[in-house]
Amino acid sequence: MQTTLILLKPDTIQRGLIGEIVARIERKWLKIVGLKMMQLNDAIINEHYDFLMSKPFFPMLKAYMQSAPVVALAVSGNDAVKTIRTLTGATNPAEALPGTIRWDYALTIDANIIHASDSPETAEKELKRFFKEWEICEFEKITDKVV
Ligand code: UDP
Ligand code: MG
Repeated sequence: MQTTLILLKPDTIQRGLIGEIVARIERKWLKIVGLKMMQLNDAIINEHYDFLMSKPFFPMLKAYMQSAPVVALAVSGNDAVKTIRTLTGATNPAEALPGTIRWDYALTIDANIIHASDSPETAEKELKRFFKEWEICEFEKITDKVV
């Protein structure tokens, strides 16, 4: 069982798509074990996107990520990291496969709706970055018995 981090980015909140996206995660029978809204400060964005800091688009990315709150989710399930990345689709929505979240809701790479951890190692770091230990709920969901 793996747990991964998802951020519903500010455009998801502005467009009123929180419920729709969360429903798609639940429909896949994944288990939401943490969920909260946050306004991101400079420090957390600099840390989260440190590998992009030297890119010319970094100031735009930062402004976008701070333009409204994000919704952070911790999601558990079999192969959760890969499963959520597949559901998310390619970074550039033009390259995302039809049926993925980025294909269905996004048009440009700079407003691509959702963040998802890209490996189990990244997920571990990112979950610590966005959630306190007590904000992750350990519980048995009725579907755990059949999934
Ligand atoms: N990004 C951007 N322009 C680019 C590449 C990336 O605005 O040319 C932003 C985009 O929001 C992307 C984020 O930076 O989701 C992180 O990039 P990464 O390569 O990690 O893509 P992801 O893991 O989100 O698919
Ligand atoms: Mg990434």
